[in-house]
Amino acid sequence: MTVDVLKANELKKAAPVFGQLSFDDHEQVVFCNDKDTGLKAIIGIHNTVLGPALGGTRMWNYNSEWDALNDVLRLSRGMTFKSAVTGLNLGGGKAVIIGDAKTQKTPELMRKFGEFVHSLSGKYITAEDVGMETADMDTVREVTPYVTGISEDKGGAGNPSPVTAYGVYMGMKAAAKFRFGNDDLQGRSVLVEGIGHVGESLVAYLAKEGAKIFISDINEAKLQQVKEIYNAEIFSGDVYAANVDIYSPCALGATINDNTIERLRAVIIAGAANNQLADDTRHGIVLREKGIVYAPDFLINAGGIINVYAELEGYGRKEIMEKTENIYNTTLEILNSAEANDISTHEAALKVAQQRIADRKNKK
Ligand code: NAD
Repeated sequence: MTVDVLKANELKKAAPVFGQLSFDDHEQVVFCNDKDTGLKAIIGIHNTVLGPALGGTRMWNYNSEWDALNDVLRLSRGMTFKSAVTGLNLGGGKAVIIGDAKTQKTPELMRKFGEFVHSLSGKYITAEDVGMETADMDTVREVTPYVTGISEDKGGAGNPSPVTAYGVYMGMKAAAKFRFGNDDLQGRSVLVEGIGHVGESLVAYLAKEGAKIFISDINEAKLQQVKEIYNAEIFSGDVYAANVDIYSPCALGATINDNTIERLRAVIIAGAANNQLADDTRHGIVLREKGIVYAPDFLINAGGIINVYAELEGYGRKEIMEKTENIYNTTLEILNSAEANDISTHEAALKVAQQRIADRKNKK
């Protein structure tokens, strides 16, 4: 075991919450337990300087409660920076429900979760994430107004995934402009890893523009379906060593890690997955040294939060799409600023977000 791992394990034992590696001055962490419905959830409120902490609820069968805590801490922190860099008046929060969404999710459990959200009086506002559907948010809405991502017929902004995909597409084009001097993706090869809600919509944009699309997923049936609709090629082999222009992680996080980073051959990384860098301090720098242009995940996957923010601010589809399209400009600015300051693109985006929070704090 390395010294770092030993130290991390010691910290875990010594201080189960504040000592967690992912703990980053979170304002509040709420553990929710209900014996009757079987609910075990954790709500992480990272920062509320810019506004209420908004972020989705993930239901996942975690290997351990430590994993669940670690996930909610990492995800809620990411939401703070996502909203800040996007210019939204929102703080960062996220919730996780421990369990299998396919077999353990019941309306009673969702309502009980909603009651816990309600008890925070609007400091945390929830939404969908992995394992959640719009219908679940409708159930939560029965017991609290502090929920977004509800269905359109109930006054919501509907499914955020196509908007997220549009933002990722804009970020990818900006990265192409930066790297190739031209944002045209026609003929560029793109490997989309994960063709779920966001990945498939992204493939649709890429197909329309004439990109050469490769797809990878663990769901065989989905692969065949997307291949046929969009004339994409199913990629078999080592995704990370694929000889493509652009690698687009749209499945799970941490796919850029010590094992994969040396194998990467793509010159651009632009995808929807949250927390793509396993270690955001180290891996952002390695990508820069390797000459790979990394479009920071929390910057280019903000379409979904822009979409749900519309429910709070009451703006419509046109404004949602305009704000999402602006991800192109912000990405380009951040890539240029990273180059000018000789820092990783992740750090450049983080600096913009942190500055916005610091400015607001000073004003208060
Ligand atoms: P999803 O569950 O609909 O799709 C994920 C896809 O990835 C599925 O098809 C799944 O089979 C596949 N997958 C899982 N493990 C894989 C693996 N090891 N290799 C290849 N494929 C694998 O999720 P989604 O809503 O499309 O979100 C995708 C990612 O984007 C997630 O990380 C999510 O947190 C992030 N994200 C989503 C939104 C949104 O609006 N939905 C917004 C911001 C960020």
